[in-house]
Amino acid sequence: MIVGGGSAGAVIASRLSEDPTCRVALLEAGDRPPEVSSIPVACAAMQLNPDVDWMYTADPGKAGLGLNDRRIPVPRGKMLGGSSSINYMMYVRGHPGDFDAWAAGGATGWSYDEILPYFRKSEGLAPSDAVVIDGPAHNTSGPLGVSVRSPILPAVSDFVEAAVAAGIPRGDYNGRDRGGPAGVASAVQGTMRRGKRSSTYQAFLEGEPERRPNLAIITGAHATRILLEGTNGNLTATGVEFRTADGELHTAHAAKEVILSAGAIGSPHLLLLSGIGPRQELEAIGIRCALDAPHVGKHLKDHLMLPLFFPALGTGVTMNEIGISLGADALRGPGGPLPADPADDAKLSPEQQALKQEAERRLAEYQTAGTGLAASSLADGVVFCSTGLGDPHSHDMEIICFPVAGDHALVHNVLNIDTARYFDDPAARLAPDVERIALMANPVLPRSEGEIVLQSADPTVHPDIRMNYYDDPYDMKVMIAVARRTLDVAAHWPGNRKVGPVLIPPFLAEKHGHVADAEPSDALLEDFALHFSLTVYHHTCTCRIGSVVDPQLRVMGVARLRVADASVMPNVTSGNTNAPTIMIGEKAAEMIARDNGVRLAEFVGAG
Ligand SMILES: Cc1cc2nc3c(=O)[nH]c(=O)nc-3n(C[C@H](O)[C@H](O)[C@H](O)COP(=O)(O)OP(=O)(O)OC[C@H]3O[C@@H](n4cnc5c(N)ncnc54)[C@H](O)[C@@H]3O)c2cc1C
Repeated sequence: MIVGGGSAGAVIASRLSEDPTCRVALLEAGDRPPEVSSIPVACAAMQLNPDVDWMYTADPGKAGLGLNDRRIPVPRGKMLGGSSSINYMMYVRGHPGDFDAWAAGGATGWSYDEILPYFRKSEGLAPSDAVVIDGPAHNTSGPLGVSVRSPILPAVSDFVEAAVAAGIPRGDYNGRDRGGPAGVASAVQGTMRRGKRSSTYQAFLEGEPERRPNLAIITGAHATRILLEGTNGNLTATGVEFRTADGELHTAHAAKEVILSAGAIGSPHLLLLSGIGPRQELEAIGIRCALDAPHVGKHLKDHLMLPLFFPALGTGVTMNEIGISLGADALRGPGGPLPADPADDAKLSPEQQALKQEAERRLAEYQTAGTGLAASSLADGVVFCSTGLGDPHSHDMEIICFPVAGDHALVHNVLNIDTARYFDDPAARLAPDVERIALMANPVLPRSEGEIVLQSADPTVHPDIRMNYYDDPYDMKVMIAVARRTLDVAAHWPGNRKVGPVLIPPFLAEKHGHVADAEPSDALLEDFALHFSLTVYHHTCTCRIGSVVDPQLRVMGVARLRVADASVMPNVTSGNTNAPTIMIGEKAAEMIARDNGVRLAEFVGAG
């Protein structure tokens, strides 16, 4: 029985049910993903929608000074596919050294050589001439669509060229070797197939798998507690209690095992609600402690990024362009250029008629060929390299290039930035015809740890998410170095298509005596980061291997209970976390199968 059909859970359910004699139940609080989730460029539109987003928010610790209400949004997908149905689709495995460090720290079986077969097993890479690919690291026939937008947008080619000019060579960031400290630059490999999102629902469950008679997918099932038998020292998980949309409580009994794949917030939340966690914290809110497990919900890791916006006349993608790429109906909202009611199209001016035709042409191109602006999240360019401050086994910095301006709805509502403080003239800067790019300065080996703490024994009350960002001063030192390197890449923009200067929030410029075009001081960059750092949505490590689960992902102290999702990472990988979580799902499925005599179609691990 699996709780949570997200990046890991959907993979486990799909793989285990390949054996017709293995009966699998998948409980998922959400539903099947809506149609819009398959359109990459519309990904942000699903956030702040309670039907598909858990809509957590967190205390950002020392960060967040320039965010609305000083809260950091923590979106999580609430649907089959989980956060892989709502994410920005960057397919990034991590540095080989990340996994070797996991294994060296006690996660036996999780070294790079041991996990590479699971990355390959999932992947269905569409070949592309636009990027460097390390062939043997990849697979073209797995269920998970991976592809590069075609053609690459001009601002993204420029970004890669700028990185190369700044000393970061082109390379395959998912290759067996991500380069030395100099790192690699590339257009993004995305979890997309022919321009449509490849979430773990679409890749692993949709179609034949979800019709298997031995796979019961129960949607709208919010798990509220793990059923436990026995006492401390002799505890066994026997099933799960869950609530359906009508408010009814049900129980489901597991013949073999309970697998928690509810994500880095959902899995520790369920353990805590079930009395598995730090005794004092549980008893403080009236939950009987079944197992004193002090690390449950602790060691929370995430990545932070500082959004640096640059005017990019001639290459930045405007929000108007994105609207047109989504077809005529996307232009009919309040204040849109076309009438709200298509029946009124008879009265269109010649300009409106031309606009409508162009929008219809672009939508048709996207639907038939999978190309056009709609065909990626626009997180389209990336760099990984070292600042020189970090652990030499890996890279400690990433830069993500978005060739798009963003509007008020995106920047103020979704990212939760106090736009009145960030921009000198928010209305003008966030206008739909503005051409701008964003470079996200993103340190990827942070040391600060947050925690997830129960606020209530009521399972519908969100846990308290305390991020503790910048708690360790080392993280700020790295952020300043990453921001500076990002500015250096921007300064190497090719040809006559220069970008910039970077937009510095006016109140910070004034406070630090900054003048346009000057190099920002460390003090300014630090203040900038304390105000406007944003989550990269990589919540991990809250049930980490070695502290809560063993390397076989079995909860230590409870029989027949495993956790398999981003929460088990011993440390966050130095990159985006969807691909490694899918890998965890693949490896978990093999471990569960081997322990229970289940015959998967293929075993790729050493056993
Ligand atoms: C907005 C956003 C953008 C991102 N962009 C990227 C990106 O571009 N590239 C990348 O690599 N990573 C990205 N990530 C991160 C990545 O998607 C996650 O790390 C990954 O999906 C986590 O997988 P998971 O299986 O641990 O959890 P999830 O995929 O979140 O799955 C957990 C599932 O469990 C369900 N669940 C939770 N609690 C319960 C309960 N009590 N009962 C029943 N069901 C429950 C949830 O509804 C969900 O379906 C992004 C994440 C977000 C939110």
